[in-house]
Amino acid sequence: MKLIDLHVHSTASDGTLTPSELAVYAHTKGLSAIALTDHDTISGIEECMQKGHEIGLTVIPGIEFSADHYGKEVHILGYYINPKDETLSAQLEDLIVARSKRNEMVLQKLSEVGCPLELEDLISAAGKDAVITRAHIAKALLNKGYIKERSEAFSKYIGEGKPCFVPKARFTTNQCIKLIHQAGGVAVLAHPMLYGYNRSEITQLIKGMKAAGLDGVECLYSTHTKEDTHHLLQVCSHLNLLPTGGSDFHGTNKPNLDLGCGYGQLAIPFKLLASIQQHLGLSLR
Ligand code: AMP
Ligand code: ZN
Ligand code: FE
Ligand code: FE
Repeated sequence: MKLIDLHVHSTASDGTLTPSELAVYAHTKGLSAIALTDHDTISGIEECMQKGHEIGLTVIPGIEFSADHYGKEVHILGYYINPKDETLSAQLEDLIVARSKRNEMVLQKLSEVGCPLELEDLISAAGKDAVITRAHIAKALLNKGYIKERSEAFSKYIGEGKPCFVPKARFTTNQCIKLIHQAGGVAVLAHPMLYGYNRSEITQLIKGMKAAGLDGVECLYSTHTKEDTHHLLQVCSHLNLLPTGGSDFHGTNKPNLDLGCGYGQLAIPFKLLASIQQHLGLSLR
């Protein structure tokens, strides 16, 4: 069976493989397609698609937005967005500017609790050109010896509700869905079981988003149980939504989680991608 992975992060956000390394790795693992879905950025797409083209791997241009859903953060994946879309690029640039301001505020707060860091520390933790996320701030704290492991950064300092937490500027789910659509893509709710809702609540959430234009739901995911997947597939079938699947691979930033197979149990059939292509009227390949 042809297998794929539609949720993958590179060094353009908080993954540890470069976009080209990812394409090569996916090819080596025998996958036939991946979607590059970096957090709030499309900067890795061109490189990944180019490498995919060279080695015969289908690379779908994607993104993962952190969206505000009535005060709660949810993640919206976009597939087949046009990376050259000017509206999308302008909106993403605004997010980068907002992130820079947020990072400055976090650094200020960290210095107030006795963990001073310089912007250069974040840049060297993230790598040049990467979107600097809290994952990199955690890495910088570790590099400086302020903490013993990365999780401590979140439990002590930068996790939600902790003293150095600063909320992130984000679009609403409706804005994300519109932005993805106007850039030619499909909008998909990422990892529905990670938001702390029970099954009936998540069903309601999906119904509401469907009314706002949502096209699909990530039913197959590294941490989903068989029952989760079964439930979500049924919701998709009832609501006529596209079921998708992805591992959320981050390289060594998410230890033991591998591309394609997640924690070992995941297998995402190509037919899920074929349905997206069909939905968009793209020729199958
Ligand atoms: P940001 O988008 O800047 O808020 O950062 C989000 C990133 O921080 C996520 O993609 C994860 O890589 C990381 N992250 C968030 N919460 C935690 C946590 N509790 N433990 C470890 N990493 C986390
Ligand atoms: Zn991430
Ligand atoms: Fe996510
Ligand atoms: Fe992700």
